[in-house]
Amino acid sequence: DTARAAGDDRSRGQVMADTLIERLTGTPGGITGVQIQLVMTDRTLLRADAEPARLPGYGTIPAEPARAIALAGGPAAANPLAGPSGMEELDLWVRRLYTVPGSGELVAMDSTARLFPAGLKRFLQVRDDTCRTPYCDAPIRHHDHITAWHTGGPTSVNNGQGLCEACNHTKETPGWTAQTIQGQRHIVATTTPTGHTYHSTAPP
Ligand SMILES: [Zn+2]
Repeated sequence: DTARAAGDDRSRGQVMADTLIERLTGTPGGITGVQIQLVMTDRTLLRADAEPARLPGYGTIPAEPARAIALAGGPAAANPLAGPSGMEELDLWVRRLYTVPGSGELVAMDSTARLFPAGLKRFLQVRDDTCRTPYCDAPIRHHDHITAWHTGGPTSVNNGQGLCEACNHTKETPGWTAQTIQGQRHIVATTTPTGHTYHSTAPP
């Protein structure tokens, strides 16, 4: 009521909800640690190349706005996103991803842990973008061992795939099998209970 009387134009319910979240998280607005990932080639970032970038969770965006977002930590004059939005205060991190010349396959080191460590999860999310089940483009929620861990499947980039929750639960039911097969890029062959096999290739 005090906030509303002082001219806050949120509804009483909104003020109550926001206050609750702020009290619980100790953070104004309750938002902390938001990370925007933007995947682009070094040519697009540094050499004014026109190759588009990918904004995970959104899709493909042209090179020019991608560079503008990447520059959001830079001088306001060069940055259309700076200003009242507060984006000029962004911390910018560059994470290098290595691909095989020619095939474009994304490569990284293996891990022996059963649970996918954070770095490997992030890698699978960047490589796969959406659920790897053919014709399903739901957001990635689970990081799956293509060959199950309990049958000897390693925790690795090659044996890992991003799946949505529904597809991962389905894959664990009887009659479903999956394996990684050799190809130019990362390919998963999924066989359904009817015996049909479908191939899913990681996006370029
Ligand atoms: Zn799915």
